Amino acid sequence: MPAQPAHQRILLKLSGEALMGDDAFGINRATIVRMVQEVAEVVNMGVEVAVVIGGGNIFRGVAGGSVGMDRATADYMGMLATVMNALALADAMDKQGLIARVMSAINIEQVVEPYIRPKALQYLEEGKVVIFAAGTGNPFFTTDTAAALRGAEIGAQMVLKATKVDGVYSADPQKDPTAERYTRISFDEAMSRNLGIMDATAFALCRDQKLPIKVFSIFKHGALKRVVLGEDEGTLVYA
Ligand code: UDP
Repeated sequence: MPAQPAHQRILLKLSGEALMGDDAFGINRATIVRMVQEVAEVVNMGVEVAVVIGGGNIFRGVAGGSVGMDRATADYMGMLATVMNALALADAMDKQGLIARVMSAINIEQVVEPYIRPKALQYLEEGKVVIFAAGTGNPFFTTDTAAALRGAEIGAQMVLKATKVDGVYSADPQKDPTAERYTRISFDEAMSRNLGIMDATAFALCRDQKLPIKVFSIFKHGALKRVVLGEDEGTLVYA
């Protein structure tokens, strides 16, 4: 009998950096294709997947120009960058046989539909991947906060934060060979140890809503599937 997923609805937070591979900025096609394959594996297991996509990869390319810029204006640019990533991600998903729908927190209706919660829920129930673009729609926030917010709104069982490393470590594993990966850690302990898993707003939202966070590597083949199956992969942050 095939293994049953432990989680039925997940919110996957992908940073913009996850799309750029080894490039300096922008979107690396091979990287995005590989990532979509990982997502397809869990969608095909019957898991409902919503994605919040970051924008750092594109924003980095224009960051020089935003120096000294009004913060809110720069943040709107950052949110628009996430819309570009969302379009690229949806396109890659369509090419691999997934049905993806992009919903934006900023009205940009000629390009993507606006975020409407019941519609997002309907898409998820239909087995479509919903990609939330433009973060929360507000400056002074991050896409991590958008992930916590949308995750809570859609009733996800877990927020999956995809990073370059395969979990949360007691120290930087690249600098300290004795660093150990936490299998699980409570919100309170992560806070007292100053582990910086998400920004404070996102972290507080997840903690208040008792929405667990799993930190894992999207580049490690099969890791997403293992997370969904409830196996020992990455780090679980729990209430
Ligand atoms: N942003 C924002 N409000 C949000 C989400 C994002 O203003 O709700 C802006 C902010 O400038 C941020 C940028 O969009 O730096 C890109 O998002 P983020 O840095 O979270 O992307 P990531 O680092 O995950 O690629």
